[in-house]
Amino acid sequence: MNNTNKINIAIDGPSGAGKSTIAKLLAADFGFIYVDTGAMYRAIGLYILRKGLTAEDKPAIIDSLKEIEVNIAYVDGAQHIYLNGEDVSGLIRTETVSQYASKVSAIPEVRAFLLALQRDLAAKNSVIMDGRDIGTVILPDAEVKIFLTAADTARAERRYKELIEKGQDVTMESVLENIRLRDKNDSERAAAPLKPADDAVLVDTTELDLQQSVEAMKSIIVEKMKHGV
Ligand code: C5P
Repeated sequence: MNNTNKINIAIDGPSGAGKSTIAKLLAADFGFIYVDTGAMYRAIGLYILRKGLTAEDKPAIIDSLKEIEVNIAYVDGAQHIYLNGEDVSGLIRTETVSQYASKVSAIPEVRAFLLALQRDLAAKNSVIMDGRDIGTVILPDAEVKIFLTAADTARAERRYKELIEKGQDVTMESVLENIRLRDKNDSERAAAPLKPADDAVLVDTTELDLQQSVEAMKSIIVEKMKHGV
């Protein structure tokens, strides 16, 4: 344990591996703050979409950053994300916004724009932060780093069920295609590509249900904490 008794846990991995569901449960369990960095990229993606820009129009996107303020706040323990003061927590959970988020997140200026907010949250609180580059770029000194993954078909199946439950009109094929496209964008981009940190513990949830995944993660964290992180 460091001398401030503060612990940061970085969870990275591809879309749909269960990062946010698991991280939320773990944060509640350990009494840490859960930080969903994907929501921040989604908020920027939503702004760009609303402005009528294409996700490929890099100069206009970079120029738009000066009009954007992203904040997070906690309401009854749940993270809410604000885009220029508007709570967009529900609006950012669509497949179109996912694609925009994935595209805008490849722009280094967009990543730099969010870096300070993410580091600031980790500096002030014990956090479980999930994303794509938390262990590699944002919190390279995080006490615990986990890379959570699963086969793309398993991830698509889970995402499909989630979206159908929310009443969204999607097909299994389109969800799988979306996941594969985002995997490709996220891992092949030059700026902070998705990859495990050298010191990350790998967890594959393809064959695990939610309970088993949570238990696997919990034991990694407890083990690390026992050994005096
Ligand atoms: O995690 P989530 O699926 O909500 O993230 C949306 C998109 O934001 C991802 O596809 C990824 O491209 C991007 N992202 C990122 N870095 C992070 C978190 C998310 O590039 N730390």
